Amino acid sequence: MADTTLMDKIVSLCKRRGFIFQSSEIYGGLGSVWDYGPLGVELKKNVKDRWWRAMVHARDDIEGLDAAILMHPKVWEASGHVAGFTDPLVDCKTCKARFRADKIQDAQCPQKPSKKPGEHTTCELTAPRMFNLMFKTFMGPVEESAAVVYLRPETAQGIYVNYLNVLQGSRQKVPFGIAQIGKAFRNEITPGNFIFRTREFEQMEMQFFVKPGTDTEWFEHWREWRMAWHHALGLNPAKLRWHEHGPGELAHYAKAAYDIEYEFPFGWNEIEGIHNRTDFDLQRHQTFSGKKLDYFDQPNNERFVPFVVETSAGADRVTLTTLVDAYREEQVEGETRVVLGFHPSVAPIKVGVFPLVKKDGMPEYATRLYHEIKQHVNAFYDDSGAVGRRYRRMDEAGTPFCVTVDGQTLTDGTVTVRHRDTMTQDRVASDRLKGWVKERTEG
Ligand code: ATP
Repeated sequence: MADTTLMDKIVSLCKRRGFIFQSSEIYGGLGSVWDYGPLGVELKKNVKDRWWRAMVHARDDIEGLDAAILMHPKVWEASGHVAGFTDPLVDCKTCKARFRADKIQDAQCPQKPSKKPGEHTTCELTAPRMFNLMFKTFMGPVEESAAVVYLRPETAQGIYVNYLNVLQGSRQKVPFGIAQIGKAFRNEITPGNFIFRTREFEQMEMQFFVKPGTDTEWFEHWREWRMAWHHALGLNPAKLRWHEHGPGELAHYAKAAYDIEYEFPFGWNEIEGIHNRTDFDLQRHQTFSGKKLDYFDQPNNERFVPFVVETSAGADRVTLTTLVDAYREEQVEGETRVVLGFHPSVAPIKVGVFPLVKKDGMPEYATRLYHEIKQHVNAFYDDSGAVGRRYRRMDEAGTPFCVTVDGQTLTDGTVTVRHRDTMTQDRVASDRLKGWVKERTEG
């Protein structure tokens, strides 16, 4: 049963605290399009930075790339997206609602939400027709078919068409990978569940190029590595599982595919896909472009078109996962405390800095400390209201540490550090604070 109350609470907290807003809200909003506010942009950026560090900086065999969103239209013919990137669309002639035929079991009849579309006496569903999910636009001033370009529906193709450029410019040899974070667009039939399924989203994708025959071994390596990444992000392991794509589910390019799923309040759903894409994409680009895309393996004096193992995660979906996984309510001294227990490395604000009272030089000391620490980690200064209230505000924002400048600070230079999760307090020398916080909040 979907826990709509929990999702409602998260959506409302996100708006209230400046994580995520509906796009163009003053005009009534644009359906399923969302903007990230001051806290949200930090959270999502931290998720992406963690991914980049693990996938690019921490490895010797992966290079980064940032390809353009617009690509030559032939790319999408070669990739199979023009012909086959479709979902089956069903219309209800009675209520005019639209559904994905393959997800109808998860949908509600708008006229009678306890029933599925088609089950209510007045439902009149059309036969499914295939609907292409790519957004089209025109390059240049003339809106004609020759000028059609697409907003990329995945970042992967920008990597395939550049793989030889990257190889030449780096010292990599197969096996090696290329990683990219960027926007993708899909004209989804039924977007929803907050930022889970949107029409504009960000992907964190890595394509790993391997010698044919070694692909299964690499596929297993990447499955293990990627699940470990989600565990290291602090997500509850009991809420993560594998889903293997059966023969009817496999994408046109895939030999094997597994999804990493998370148990959201609205059920188990994919957050990342690991795919063995074989040599499908490179072979197709070779055929469509007429350019050789094979790799010369010098030590073995052989040429081959590499196979590709892909890891593809949604930055927005992982961000939503961190919010859902972190949200908790606790009873403390007869009051409800709302906490976002983020892993400190993704927390938008790392430390709150407060003067205990607005006198005796405490605000001046705290302001100085705040400006100093802010050069190194994202910090927040708050001097309004009782300290207990300030703690609660930081708990709701997911800030792992709060620092209070008090009477003792003025005599011995130590500050009180309060821990978000345990609510316990320590004293730390204020000149050591920067290092203390950095150590506890970095990757
Ligand atoms: P789904 O079955 O949920 O439509 P998919 O199998 O089409 O997803 P992929 O093509 O494998 O997804 O895309 C890789 C990742 O990109 C997904 O795991 C997800 O995290 C993200 N993603 C895909 N579509 C969307 C979307 N509409 N909104 C947000 N993130 C998305």
